[in-house]
Amino acid sequence: MAKQFFNYLVIGGGSGGIASARRAALLQPSLKIAVIEKSRPGGTCVNVGCVPKKVMFMTAAVNEALHDAKDYGFDIEKKNQFDWAMLKEKRDAYVKRLNGIYKNNLAKDNITYIQGAATFTGPNTVSVDGVEYEGEHILIAVGGSPTLPNIPGAELCDTSDQFFEWDSLPKKVLVVGAGYIAVELAGILHNLGVDTTLVARRGAILRTFDEDVAKNLMSEMSDAGQKVQYYTTPDAIEKAEDGTFTFKGTVSEPGQEPKQVTLEGFEKVLFAIGRHPLTENLGLDKAGVNTDNRGHILVDEYQQTSAERVYAVGDVCGKALLTPVAIAAGRHLSHRLFNKEADRKLDYKNIPTVVFSHPPIGTIGLTQAEAEEKYGAENIRIYQSKFTNMYFAMTTRKPKTYMKLICKLPEEQIVGLHVVGLGADEMLQGFSVAVVSGATKKQFDSTVAIHPTSAEEFVTMN
Ligand code: FAD
Ligand code: NDP
Repeated sequence: MAKQFFNYLVIGGGSGGIASARRAALLQPSLKIAVIEKSRPGGTCVNVGCVPKKVMFMTAAVNEALHDAKDYGFDIEKKNQFDWAMLKEKRDAYVKRLNGIYKNNLAKDNITYIQGAATFTGPNTVSVDGVEYEGEHILIAVGGSPTLPNIPGAELCDTSDQFFEWDSLPKKVLVVGAGYIAVELAGILHNLGVDTTLVARRGAILRTFDEDVAKNLMSEMSDAGQKVQYYTTPDAIEKAEDGTFTFKGTVSEPGQEPKQVTLEGFEKVLFAIGRHPLTENLGLDKAGVNTDNRGHILVDEYQQTSAERVYAVGDVCGKALLTPVAIAAGRHLSHRLFNKEADRKLDYKNIPTVVFSHPPIGTIGLTQAEAEEKYGAENIRIYQSKFTNMYFAMTTRKPKTYMKLICKLPEEQIVGLHVVGLGADEMLQGFSVAVVSGATKKQFDSTVAIHPTSAEEFVTMN
């Protein structure tokens, strides 16, 4: 059978793939474009990532507000009757609606949607369920999947994918990991009243973040009663006769002999120890596409792979695994390929990011350690502030907000901006525009504050 031809063949209907395909259609409506998706349209973000996670983050925030309500004079009798099943049903319905919207948008843009898993059969051909397709240009945007450790009993455990399938709220959960997902999901569970233990293999969480930011979050988590078992690596997970899980690990505190630890009675064990690219069964060798030793596709700054007219964007490249990064890289690529903008590419410097922890973190630019290494400690100036958000003036709990500005001397250009505290998630986007635009401390200082907010602290620091 003759191969079906497309000018632009996109493998993966997630954030990067859909954004790139739709932008290509906008730029050149006459192009023949197809998106191949093996699962549900929208990819990780819509189905098992940002979207359902944010619903859960907000659910936990509602619970926090219910706790605070009494302090604000509301006579709320909290009966602890949280209806997980009802919320899950509504959340799933919302995600399903988004799946439909994504599919409709592709149809509206005249993009062919092909359901199935694609594998390369040659340099510019792929096969889906035995049907061959040829692409003048092919984009690989297949994303990744959660990683389980190679230890006995790992197969008994869950990842973030299964978290979104839980039918009821467990009473006791162990979360292994210290990155975005572990911190976010443990925070959600703890705030919903689940007895949650986070297991981190080092003495800190969020290792890639500014050290002071991570420390402040750790201190807030500790004040809120969140249990964290530091310096602990997992050795095995066992299932007890009563159906609960036992965690066996090794604690290796600096300067001390390693010792074994056993933690028992967990209804669920969730691993959030990173994600791996979905490139194993893609037949990349047939297309001449090179990967690194972890399977990430190697691309240059223009998202070009080692194979002619084959490109890759998003998580599959292993750099800044964030939805807006995949979207932006995919759109820039379409401008380059289909709008004669030869130099269009994503600038991976200064990517703002938020951790939806409790309280959330917002960060852009360099950490203090990175700035010191890049410019020398004598060439940077640090401004920081720690205070109680006015919201907590009325409440029994008193979480702190911590802010840090990292400025490059002599002009005091802001090269790093970090905040952990209530509202950090919504605060960051606007400040990111300033940082990306090269703003200086002087320009921050000459901006009139908005009072009373916590964001105003960024323009009043000294
Ligand atoms: P994906 O969105 O993963 O899309 C890849 C698609 O390709 C998938 O639909 C997959 O089914 C399909 N596919 C794979 N192999 C094939 C094949 N052979 N043939 C056809 N189709 C295939 N990012 C944020 O910015 N903010 C957040 O708050 C956030 N929260 C997250 C929470 C969680 C729990 C997780 C797991 C991730 C989160 N992320 C967040 C990260 C974000 O989801 C990813 O960075 C983003 O989805 C990457 O987009 P992508 O297009 O590269 O891949
Ligand atoms: P991360 O890369 O963020 O973190 C992985 C964590 O797992 C690290 O803390 C690491 O520890 C730990 N780890 C790795 N291997 C082991 C092991 N064998 N045993 C114990 N711990 C281990 O990955 P995530 O899975 O949390 O998230 C994947 C990506 O998804 C993130 O990097 C982020 O880009 C994206 N994401 C973004 C979100 C957002 O924007 N809010 C939310 C969720 C995900 P150590 O630090 O000690 O190396």
